Amino acid sequence: MKAYLDYHSSTPVDKRIIAKMNKCHLVEYGNPSAIHSAGESAKELVEKATIQVAEIIGALPEQIIFTAGATESNNITIKGRWFYFRRVIGKEKIKIISSKIEHDSVLQCVNAIQRYDENVIVVNIPVSTEGELDLRFLEEELQKDDYPVLLVSLMTANNEIGTINDIIRIGSICKKYDVFFHTDATQAVGKIDIDVNKSNTDALSLSAHKIYGPKGIGALFVRDSNIVDPFIDGGYQSMLRSGTLNTAGIVGLGMACELLKNNGVERVRTEQLRDWMLHELTTRLDGITVNGIMEDRLCNNLNISIEGVLSEIIVGLDDIMVSSGSACATGNHEPSHVLREIQAKNPDCAIRFGLGRWTTFEEVDYAVARIVDIVKKTRAK
Ligand code: PMP
Repeated sequence: MKAYLDYHSSTPVDKRIIAKMNKCHLVEYGNPSAIHSAGESAKELVEKATIQVAEIIGALPEQIIFTAGATESNNITIKGRWFYFRRVIGKEKIKIISSKIEHDSVLQCVNAIQRYDENVIVVNIPVSTEGELDLRFLEEELQKDDYPVLLVSLMTANNEIGTINDIIRIGSICKKYDVFFHTDATQAVGKIDIDVNKSNTDALSLSAHKIYGPKGIGALFVRDSNIVDPFIDGGYQSMLRSGTLNTAGIVGLGMACELLKNNGVERVRTEQLRDWMLHELTTRLDGITVNGIMEDRLCNNLNISIEGVLSEIIVGLDDIMVSSGSACATGNHEPSHVLREIQAKNPDCAIRFGLGRWTTFEEVDYAVARIVDIVKKTRAK
């Protein structure tokens, strides 16, 4: 038996989505920008998918652009805002507000901007040992009114410890100070309800391969694309991201979003399995610490440190697929930046479990038994 418990890293594609995508490749293969009938029918498919994506986050279809994934969506927003600021206000000092527990595609993007532009100041919101952002600090920072703020970029939910940020409150603080708010919602879409209007969000990134869609396709919601400059130029789609549209991927992402509607039962089932897993592990083993607050956590996430057992022992098992930090950090033996930031106990013994649509009780039961066995043997050595 094998247990795949790495849904934060990537999910299997829903068979219903594959059937639709195949049809795009074989039948609806026209370029959606072409004006002949093959182009027209591809364009219709893209339009339908755009509505499906917009609906899942409460946006308007014209506010959605398609990208190659959340990494690109994050880069388009952050670098696009920087391009915009430099064009409009010139070289003066500007400020980016973010946190040290963001995904690498935000962290590295911000670092890159700082490498090119010495007039960019980065302010990181402090994070508690439970993984919670200090939103009083955010408000105080915005009150300062010292430098223009390029954007506030704070994720909706963390990809390692699954903690959910209060984006409604973050959005309302940003609105109060008239500051652009971007959120990376890659892990949160489909796990919690999202409404870009309720959360006063200006830009939101998401990705298909975390929600049972294909890899290499994502979306970006942008409320007002006049205040984000493009850095991928060339025509087609929208001014903000040029290139021929990936019709099959877009249709796949659209359907993935459609299938997330009314998924309350799925969320509860995943959460129950996750809670049962934690209960079993803590009952059968001592020395387990949960990383990040348990209450405000994605229904499918569990991140624990098992005292005395290095993560690589569990991650190295062939039949149990889990992560030590984020998948992006795999192969990198540095402790994860998120666990370091929250000062987690035993970060090198941390395991991230991600459950999902097809996780079975049997898989979880198997994984628990296997882990208990390995931990006992390792500790006995
Ligand atoms: N942001 C978060 C929070 C993620 O979990 C991931 C995927 N690990 C990404 C961004 C990058 O997404 P993609 O693979 O679509 O580029």
